[in-house]
Amino acid sequence: MNKKILSLILGSIFMLTAVLTGCGGDNKAQKTENKVIRVACSADFAPFEFQEEGKTEYQGFDMDLIRAIGKEMNYKVEISNIGFDGLIPALEAGNIDLIISGMTINDERKNKVLFSDPYYESGLTIVVRANEDKIKGFTDLEGKKVAVQIGTTGSREAAKIKDCEVKNFNVISECFMELKAGGVDAVINDRPVNDYYLKRTNSEGVKPLNDKLTSENYGMAMRKDNKELQEKINAALKKLKDNGEYQKIYDKWFGVSK
Ligand code: GLN
Repeated sequence: MNKKILSLILGSIFMLTAVLTGCGGDNKAQKTENKVIRVACSADFAPFEFQEEGKTEYQGFDMDLIRAIGKEMNYKVEISNIGFDGLIPALEAGNIDLIISGMTINDERKNKVLFSDPYYESGLTIVVRANEDKIKGFTDLEGKKVAVQIGTTGSREAAKIKDCEVKNFNVISECFMELKAGGVDAVINDRPVNDYYLKRTNSEGVKPLNDKLTSENYGMAMRKDNKELQEKINAALKKLKDNGEYQKIYDKWFGVSK
């Protein structure tokens, strides 16, 4: 009897050890778990990527999406924070494997990187001071002062406006501060980020305009020679769209209705 109990205990210990160490289990699964994608974002773009005070993990739609994609691919996702205009150079230098940072797919960038399939539809809008009554749309920005984030599509569009003084800032929060302080007349930036800022962060003294300048799609960026990763990312993105996981993440950050 005692022997039976002893062999049962020993048997259980053996099995538990086997499960914990992966022996006798799925060796392939264990191997792929060691694979890592080095991801970078510019973590100043709520609700896509940001860091809340007191929290160590980066949060946002992009962050949830890339973690879900990593899980789907059986890759470990390591995220680092790099200024927006330093993201593509970091990718080209081989310091990271993938950018997810509310980055718009455009031809200029396509010369340097491979993009995933589009994963979010965005566009540029304007934010002005609450008491502003002359600026109603993009055509009213002629001869005005505009704040934008450096290296962004907002910065590119602002540069096209006639006689417009464009002030480039490292992060979008600095643009809003400059607007409130009266240093510029408007901020040009991505619509969902403007909306989130106005609703959740601090809408005091500023208001959005309805005029939408562009329609843009966000994509994840990879090195030109990394077609293999691009294919895996696209397949995982498609799977998450098909199985409803993408929608869950979308609803968490943007509500049920768009
Ligand atoms: N979507 C814009 C761009 O790609 C802004 C991105 C950002 O600031 N994170 O330029």
